[in-house]
Amino acid sequence: MGDCLFCKIIKGEIPSTKVYEDEEILAFNDIKPLAPIHILVIPKKHISSLADMENGDEVIVGKIYKVINKIAEEKGFKKDGYRVIVNCGENGGQEVMHLHFHVLAGKKLGNK
Ligand code: AMP
Ligand code: ZN
Repeated sequence: MGDCLFCKIIKGEIPSTKVYEDEEILAFNDIKPLAPIHILVIPKKHISSLADMENGDEVIVGKIYKVINKIAEEKGFKKDGYRVIVNCGENGGQEVMHLHFHVLAGKKLGNK
């Protein structure tokens, strides 16, 4: 996916502040944080959105949730809690078409 922003971040063509990386998953700080902690967690495989998951992609999505838990533990916000958001498609407000999980933490988040 040559023109995908997050694929470029994965390849290191665009810089990011990495929080976690393994063979299949990358996590980095969101460039416009909506909370004191705002991390994006993405599969290295290009999946355009939650709606574009193929058979078998549930494995990587499951791993992403485990990685989020691990990051929460390591960064020290597991106990206080956090919010995970996935925007999907136009009505969901998805701007970058590479599946990503927003992790927000570090303050009491408003209801929505
Ligand atoms: P969404 O609206 O769910 O597609 O979220 C896209 C997110 O990507 C937004 O929160 C942006 O602030 C974030 N973003 C865009 N460009 C970058 C970048 N170069 N590095 C880090 N985060 C980015
Ligand atoms: Zn991509």
